[in-house]
Amino acid sequence: MSKFIFITGGVVSGIGKGIVGASIGRLLKDRGVSVFMQKFDPYINVDPGTMSPYQHGEVFVTKDGAETDLDLGHYERFIDEELTQRSNVTTGRIYSEVIQKERRGDYNGSTVQVIPHITDRIKGYVYKAAEESKADVIITEIGGTVGDIESLPFIEAIRQIHSENKDDVLFIHTTLVPKVPGSNELKTKPTQHSFKQLMSQGIKANIIVVRSSETISEEIKNKISLFCDVPKNAIVQSENVDVIYEVPVKLHEQGLDDYVIEKLQLKAKKSDSNWANMLRSVKDAKETLEVGLIGKYVKLHDAYLSVSQALIDASYKNGYKLNIHWINSQEITEENVSEKLSGLDGIIVPGGFGSRGVEGMIITSKYSRENNIPYFGICFGMQIAIIDIARNVCKLEGADSTEKNEYTKYPVISLMEDQFDVKNIGGTLRLGNYDCKLKENTKARKLYNEEFIKERHRHRYEFNNKFRKELEQAGVVFSGINPELDLVEIIEYNNSDYFVACQFHPEFKSRPNKVHPLFDGFIKASIKNKKSK
Ligand code: GLN
Repeated sequence: MSKFIFITGGVVSGIGKGIVGASIGRLLKDRGVSVFMQKFDPYINVDPGTMSPYQHGEVFVTKDGAETDLDLGHYERFIDEELTQRSNVTTGRIYSEVIQKERRGDYNGSTVQVIPHITDRIKGYVYKAAEESKADVIITEIGGTVGDIESLPFIEAIRQIHSENKDDVLFIHTTLVPKVPGSNELKTKPTQHSFKQLMSQGIKANIIVVRSSETISEEIKNKISLFCDVPKNAIVQSENVDVIYEVPVKLHEQGLDDYVIEKLQLKAKKSDSNWANMLRSVKDAKETLEVGLIGKYVKLHDAYLSVSQALIDASYKNGYKLNIHWINSQEITEENVSEKLSGLDGIIVPGGFGSRGVEGMIITSKYSRENNIPYFGICFGMQIAIIDIARNVCKLEGADSTEKNEYTKYPVISLMEDQFDVKNIGGTLRLGNYDCKLKENTKARKLYNEEFIKERHRHRYEFNNKFRKELEQAGVVFSGINPELDLVEIIEYNNSDYFVACQFHPEFKSRPNKVHPLFDGFIKASIKNKKSK
């Protein structure tokens, strides 16, 4: 039977609760304990799929096509497990499911209430995750901050899980110990208050993970221990680190995994050191690679979290630090492109929606192609590359995606329903895993070193197969195809050293210790380009 760890946050949001959860997952895995992770988000949206990247950052897509919180990206990268629909649940989803049941009459005439109906539904997600994953430990993070009105049903649900499972449940509370400007003193009072707030909701945290701008002293630990009645060895600090992958190592040094294993009475082995080995190569990286990320949400780096993380991981793997140049595509014109993109070793155009900033991306693709600078297009970035080649090599004047120009004479990118005889999917996103067959003697095939792959998708538009011949004649190699629907999944441009673009999102499957082949290939090509200068 699975055991349960619940992670709550106190004082303020944004103190890295997700990373702490992911780190605990990593530490347990290193000890031979299997884990499954999930996040409960107290907002009303059914999922973050409809939220602006500026509100929410990236939407992380799971293999089964759930549009989820970006913390799931941290979870997957840290624990190297593919998560599912069960891994991200919002208030909106819980309520809409309960209301649907009520409308169907499933509650047999009862009054439907927060307790027990909403809380039962929440608990159901935890228990189902345990049943399906069969993991030794289910780690569940509660989004938001303790004390928020919105998170009450979640807190109540996990309180009930504790009363149903007693010794098999552990609560971890992450808090901030701030420094008061002027007095130069670290203050534990906010931690005491949020701990008490949690107690007033029936939960006594077993472990406290502290964030602070400085290393907390024994005295601070003593104080927290005394006021919160938590043993001193159950108070650890999640230190500020240069590379987020150091967090598990730092927590391990403070004995956090030993404490969790003892408390939950888990069968565990000695920690294996693969993670630490990977970190060593990260620390060894000396030279810096310059890569341009050209998109329209560049003001908020979180909008491209998995892409930037995959780039960083691939660079470290190849012995380089990475400097990402965040460039707003709206500012790129034919006149200034060489100045805007000068000095870059490689160029990436990631995913995006809508028509704003698209012309700047098309100019970027053309510039990379004509100057033989490694180009990596992801999702929108592939569609952009196709438009560029159609316009500038095939001379299909005004070629476009129908997302931007419905009436274009050359709809090289269009909706699936316009291309196939499929009805009523009106603007439905292609989400989650789809198969892809790789063509022999292509870059993609060499990089993957496999014939069949599965990658995660999140898009509405597709390459329009009517234009395949014309683009092929212009030097485009269609190196990856979805066999079922004959959809284009990966393209390459023959006349460039590295010009590879894919319709799916490889960033979701890249791991720090298992870098995705397309990111690896792109970074290797960028290094080669740098050296040749
Ligand atoms: N806007 C494009 C589409 O819907 C690309 C989406 C993306 O980059 N995720 O097909």
